[in-house]
Amino acid sequence: MTKPAGIRQLLRYPREHPLGYRMMLRVLGCSFIFILLSTALQLSLDYRREMQAIDQRLELIRSSYLTSLARSLWDLDDAQLRLQLNGILTLPDTLALQLQDTGPGPDLNLGQDLQRFSGAYRQHSFELVHTLPGGEQRRLARLVVTTDLQALYHRLWSTGQHILLSQSALVLLITLALLIIFSRLVTRHLESMARFSHRIGAGDLAQPLRLERQVPGVADELDQVVNALNEMRQAIRRDIDRRDQEQQALRYNRDQLRALVDKRTQSLQQAKDSADAANQAKSQFLATMSHEIRTPMNGMLGMIQLLQHADLPATERGQLRILHQSTEALLGTLNAVLDYARLEHGLQLPPARGFSLQQLIDDQAQLLQAQADQKGLRLHTELDPQFHDACHGSDAGLRQLLGNLLSNAIKFTPSGEISLRLCRLDNGSDTRQRLRFCIQDSGIGIAPELQQHIFERFAQADDSITRSFGGTGLGLAICRQLVTAMGGEISLQSEPGQGSTFCFELSLQCLAGLPSSEAQPAQPLPSDSLPSLSLLLVEDMAINQQVVTALLERHDHLVTLCEDGLQAIACCTQQRFDAILMDMHLPLLSGLDASQKIRSDSRSLNRDTPIIALTASVGAQDIRRYLGHGISAVVAKPVQQDKLIDALQAACGIPAGSAVAASPSMLTAVIPPGPRQPPPLLDEALLGAHQQALGDAKLRALIELFSTTLDALVPQLQHAIMEGDRFEIASVAHRLAGSCDTLGLARAARGLHDLEQRAEQPPGDNDLQHVKLQLKQAWAQLEPVLRHSQAAANKVLGGLSGT
Ligand code: ADP
Repeated sequence: MTKPAGIRQLLRYPREHPLGYRMMLRVLGCSFIFILLSTALQLSLDYRREMQAIDQRLELIRSSYLTSLARSLWDLDDAQLRLQLNGILTLPDTLALQLQDTGPGPDLNLGQDLQRFSGAYRQHSFELVHTLPGGEQRRLARLVVTTDLQALYHRLWSTGQHILLSQSALVLLITLALLIIFSRLVTRHLESMARFSHRIGAGDLAQPLRLERQVPGVADELDQVVNALNEMRQAIRRDIDRRDQEQQALRYNRDQLRALVDKRTQSLQQAKDSADAANQAKSQFLATMSHEIRTPMNGMLGMIQLLQHADLPATERGQLRILHQSTEALLGTLNAVLDYARLEHGLQLPPARGFSLQQLIDDQAQLLQAQADQKGLRLHTELDPQFHDACHGSDAGLRQLLGNLLSNAIKFTPSGEISLRLCRLDNGSDTRQRLRFCIQDSGIGIAPELQQHIFERFAQADDSITRSFGGTGLGLAICRQLVTAMGGEISLQSEPGQGSTFCFELSLQCLAGLPSSEAQPAQPLPSDSLPSLSLLLVEDMAINQQVVTALLERHDHLVTLCEDGLQAIACCTQQRFDAILMDMHLPLLSGLDASQKIRSDSRSLNRDTPIIALTASVGAQDIRRYLGHGISAVVAKPVQQDKLIDALQAACGIPAGSAVAASPSMLTAVIPPGPRQPPPLLDEALLGAHQQALGDAKLRALIELFSTTLDALVPQLQHAIMEGDRFEIASVAHRLAGSCDTLGLARAARGLHDLEQRAEQPPGDNDLQHVKLQLKQAWAQLEPVLRHSQAAANKVLGGLSGT
């Protein structure tokens, strides 16, 4: 049954107006206590008054009736006696009269029969005495007056009831009036203040607080609170405005700074590019010239050899021998120039292949033995029995290195001995070995001031030495280039007059079987032959971490994970890895910077470990930049299993910084599909490959992870777009794009990459607003694509087994 609106409102009152309700309860409670007290007081006063009235009536009986009653009794005037007694009975509240001890007659009873009366009464007795003329007094009887108390109690009770009822009604009326006044004056204003405070808490600072009431002549407490609240609102607004301005200024400064840095980087890059181009042009010129001179030179040598067989007089034969030697020397110089130019031009390290290290060292020693013998020098080798003979690497490069250093040692040692020492530095892994080669002679040594420049091009000792020994000053520069290209380092210890020791360290891959000492054509290792490798994966996005880790673990590789460049650098000082897979776009420190730090950090155990770049930026420029900074190979994102394994194989087969850069097959392997046509919503081929490689369960986990990532990053991106925060947009879009790429959500990935690029473009001075608008428009187009992509991913999820 529905209650009338008035009652419902009344029932809601305690909940909606708790303060008014509490006040009402307290006022009512106090008032009732006062009413009770005042009623009790009133009744006690009435009671006393009634009792006094009874006493006065008894006194009246004593003073006015007793003497005349005694006379009537003495005179035996019965009629008079009864008249007088009835007179007393008419007095108020007189219930009964008894005349006792009247002599021989019975007692006289008038009024109510007390035997039958059940109420309360009070009795008072008087002695009736007659005074004789002589003054003698005679006691005649006793008069007992009974006063009715019941009537008195009734009166008091009805008086009490009356007071209680009337007072309560009055109090209720007063309370109600008070409530209405209190509500109008205070509570409704308190409620609007509370609503105002809530609005401020929710960030609605638009309107000030105004109370709906007539403005009092003098400001009261409510006005003070209202003023305080409005001042607080103003202060919050000012604070927010100030923060907004500061943020805007910060963002503006950051954009300016980024634009400046971009501009500087661009101009530095341009300067570097033109310097590189000039250097390359010079090297190219040198190479071309040397090549051009070498061709007629070979012709001249051929002619000289033919002439040597001719029948010539002894003087001319001698001249011909000198001509032959000079031509040979000139050819050697040209070859050195050509070698250097070739190395500098494109790091053309001779290709890697399997070879026997023992055989290579023996060959070199044997080759130079004749020269040593000619000068009466002892040439010997000391080889560490721990070294692994079957290796994979650039044997021709190593041969050239040893040849250059040994022939220098022989050239600059007039007497004594030359030794070639090999020792193994690591603790005997079956997959790679770290070796140190040292070529020591007891020759003329190198002056300390020259030692630090000796590996630079055209650096030679003083003129007298150059005059006596000849040479181009390129041999050691070529050696350093070769060692660096093989991922090692070369060093020198020398004392003038005592001799010199050139040492270099290399890491070479070990092969299981011993290859024949004959040169074999360079071939990539079959993917099964890649042993289980210890790999460092540096990747910040969880989804990419999982895909790459799963792909690698499928091939039994051991993966250590780092989430940013700084972690990776720290990790590289604690453990040595067979290869590092480095995301190029990392938080804190870019992948490229981290790679360079790993290469240059003296505490790093991975200075020569091959580094494979994982990146979505695979333009020719980018790849050239990566390879130029010591990256061994580049794998395009989204990472595909075969490409990853190919790159790993190539990088681990050839030491870091090597010919991978120049390998055309490598470059084509990493360049993603070129033409810019609308990509599919879902790259099913890639997803199929993932499913095959990872299995349903892992793929499901990946898609779920993707959904979570999307749910977390999309609101961030949206907020950044609304704020026009370009830096944040670029960063979040890049991370989201990476996740979409990995799951084959190609259209979303493309859209996000575009958004990232737009956000990264430095805006002109005045078109900041325009850029913001463009970003908002781009987002409006991208948002539905992201939604459809998520739906597509969820559909795939639904189709996976076990769902
Ligand atoms: P080149 O021998 O053609 O002059 P290199 O680059 O091989 O060029 O050597 C540069 C210089 O280093 C030599 O000219 C020589 O002065 C010095 N040098 C190289 N090897 C030795 C050595 N084993 N002992 C003394 N000096 C050496």
